[in-house]
Amino acid sequence: MSSLYIHIPFCQSKCGYCSFSSWPGLESVHASYVEAVHRELTETAKQYSGGPLTTLFFGGGTPTMLSSRQLIRLLNCCVDSFGVERDAEVSIEANPGTIERIQLDDLKKAGFSRVSVGVQSFLAEDLKALGRCHTSSEAVSAITDLRAAGFENISLDLMYGLPNQTVESWCRNLEKAIALDPEHISMYQLTIEDGTAFAGLAERGMLDLPSEETIIAMDEVNLSRTGSAGYDWYEISNYAKPGFRCRHNLAYWHNEEYLAAGAGAVSYLGGVRERRVDDPVEYMARIMAGNKTVIEREHLAQDDAFKETVIMGLRLTEGVKLEQLQARFGMDPFSYYGTTLKKLLDAGFMESSDTHLRVSEKGRLLSNAILSELV
Ligand code: SF4
Repeated sequence: MSSLYIHIPFCQSKCGYCSFSSWPGLESVHASYVEAVHRELTETAKQYSGGPLTTLFFGGGTPTMLSSRQLIRLLNCCVDSFGVERDAEVSIEANPGTIERIQLDDLKKAGFSRVSVGVQSFLAEDLKALGRCHTSSEAVSAITDLRAAGFENISLDLMYGLPNQTVESWCRNLEKAIALDPEHISMYQLTIEDGTAFAGLAERGMLDLPSEETIIAMDEVNLSRTGSAGYDWYEISNYAKPGFRCRHNLAYWHNEEYLAAGAGAVSYLGGVRERRVDDPVEYMARIMAGNKTVIEREHLAQDDAFKETVIMGLRLTEGVKLEQLQARFGMDPFSYYGTTLKKLLDAGFMESSDTHLRVSEKGRLLSNAILSELV
């Protein structure tokens, strides 16, 4: 596997819960940003000795804030600089409300194969609470337009655990998503991140969030309803029809290496994780001046890389392959974690076979708490 992530940090407006590297109001620099990323990709490729890319992911921000011409220019740069496998998974994140001005046919013809649509909710009250800049009907039209353009691999992002949300309103939402028959659904529980508008509201007691019991009931609905609709639960927050697991994200969960380009983007190569400067204007200035954009460089020690691989892998329902851990690190999780892991196994929250270690069915709805024991 050879994977590349490209970060497009622009958005129409800032959602109240968002802590991503995303910048509204920078339309005037889109063209220069594309040139800067183009330059970074070309430079990175000069030192790259791996095979053609098997997965690419244009994430954000909102990549569909760029024009189709600009997006295709970046994709073509990847094809020319690194090579891209014929059956590569080329994903792009898109927001309803920005899709209609994009030439979707052109994107499809250029080689984009998978679109992840940030719907978050089909209910007007949720969209308003989240500060999203689109309507439910725009989300439905976006999916219709993507199908008309020939996209056969569509993922929907939804959020639950929202202010004032009930199990009943979440169920209505999920039903709408399933009725659109996407190949993949991601469902993320809202978390309140420092520095966001939601953090300020929560501090002032102005966010009425669902109780823990309500969240557990929503998790149970997610599992049973997606299961009966033909989706496999393959990662804590991700569900896919057979053959449609996100190959790019699987590379992250397997803790494989990946290239990256763009402001705020993180790469992981040769055991070194590098983070680029967040501010797109500073990123562009550094690129154009021929300066480094990397502001953080972390060399992962063997132990840390092993631990990360175990924890990331346990996010997957299939768990981690013991033979692969042994081949890659010469280590096994039973000796490494000792009594901590034994307690989780004895309590039935985790289980092991000759080949795998995984979170058990009993432990799945508590995955985050279980994984935090192994950090
Ligand atoms: S659209 Fe996504 S990246 Fe942009 S502000 Fe909203 S949550 Fe953040």
